[in-house]
Amino acid sequence: NFVTSRLAGFHKLSMEERRAQIAQMFRLSPEEMDLLSGHGSLQTTLANQMIENAVGTFSLPLGLGLNMMVNGREYLVPMAVEEPSVVAAVSFAAKIVREAGGFTAEADDSMMIGQVQLTRYGDPTEATQKILAHKEHLLALANSFHPSMIRRGGGAKDVEVRVLPAPEGPRGEPLLIVHLLVDTQEAMGANLINTMAEGVTPLLEQITGGKVYLRILSNLADRRLARATCRIPTSALADFDLPGELIAEGISQASRFAQADPYRAATHNKGVMNGIDAVAIATGQDWRAIEAGAHAFACRDGQYRPLSTWHLEEGHLVGRIELPMALGLVGGPIKVHPGVQVALKLMQAHTVREMSMVFAAVGLAQNFAAVRALGSVGIQKGHMAMHARCVAVTAGARGDWVEKIANELVKVGHVKVEKAREIIAALPP
Ligand code: NDP
Repeated sequence: NFVTSRLAGFHKLSMEERRAQIAQMFRLSPEEMDLLSGHGSLQTTLANQMIENAVGTFSLPLGLGLNMMVNGREYLVPMAVEEPSVVAAVSFAAKIVREAGGFTAEADDSMMIGQVQLTRYGDPTEATQKILAHKEHLLALANSFHPSMIRRGGGAKDVEVRVLPAPEGPRGEPLLIVHLLVDTQEAMGANLINTMAEGVTPLLEQITGGKVYLRILSNLADRRLARATCRIPTSALADFDLPGELIAEGISQASRFAQADPYRAATHNKGVMNGIDAVAIATGQDWRAIEAGAHAFACRDGQYRPLSTWHLEEGHLVGRIELPMALGLVGGPIKVHPGVQVALKLMQAHTVREMSMVFAAVGLAQNFAAVRALGSVGIQKGHMAMHARCVAVTAGARGDWVEKIANELVKVGHVKVEKAREIIAALPP
């Protein structure tokens, strides 16, 4: 069955028509269709097993990001998000990039870091030497807690020791942090790393005579990065009655601004994460972990920087993104939440590595759409048109009236709830 992410006119279809098209393309069963539309996608009995004090479930709109092409492959991108314009922006950006050859992406092995904090160890150099001398023993012990990870080609691979200055000054004991590097394969890996980190504690205490306190993974997953790039001829960027060169210049200025200024970089990265979080939520990922990793990575040289950059190169606009991507295709809620299974079926990324590359490309596409508008005509025009629908609903409009009232709000240039109420009040009964 041919799957394409290029679904021309998809946004103009009714929701029923969109579902029918997707059902046909992916040969979805009636049960899967029910899950896609949100009916029973998470039963309350299951919700009650997932978290504590459950009283129900919570829904978000699920949309499909279109036109995405990464390393020559088509991807439909399931996105769960409440913010208008996110899905449209990613689809629009992916279309421009696709016409320029698509995104090129790569991702590291699933190497995660488990941290163990050792105290009262004596001399830091001696303690470090003792730990490293027992590296093989520590790795074997860590792997004994998850023998199947070795069979999968993963498991604990290396031990590193970091000695950090005491926060209270030179009189305090330097911090001695042991890093256990674990290849978590198709899992995000938090639970399995935590088990290993706790598991090696008695041996570390025995080797050094010290006392261990914290044992947990690091969300700064900087050994597990995903990268995406795109290269767009500047002539392909012409829009808003502006030449492509001017739009490209605006985008590269946006990149310079974010590189130099953390106040701007925070908003730049918020835009990147608009896309990544939406696909993370739809596919059952721990998006707090992805967020924490992304922002910590953005600070790696001491200043908060943009996760993506844009520059001009021989008549082309070149975009790059690099960020930690701790994803899973097993573990956590992934096999438990039936709606997640359908979302993953639509995305058709068969490995965590492949999925990480799509996530990185989504982040870059989302950022492209934002800086393209910001560096030229501004985002409010496009945003307000979509925001107007939300305002119309807030004012009480329903059904076909939502679109009509929203259009009227945009036409009068006053996208406010009281204006919408005024328009509704003036309607014939
Ligand atoms: P799980 O422990 O639920 O699942 C991972 C397990 O799946 C592995 O240990 C392995 O068990 C099994 N598995 C089966 N097939 C594979 C495969 N191909 N590759 C790898 N493992 C496989 O989840 P994670 O360890 O991934 O932890 C993720 C969860 O931890 C998330 O829900 C997250 O929210 C949560 N969490 C996050 C924290 C953080 O980010 N700071 C902290 C604590 C928890 P086996 O080897 O036994 O077969």
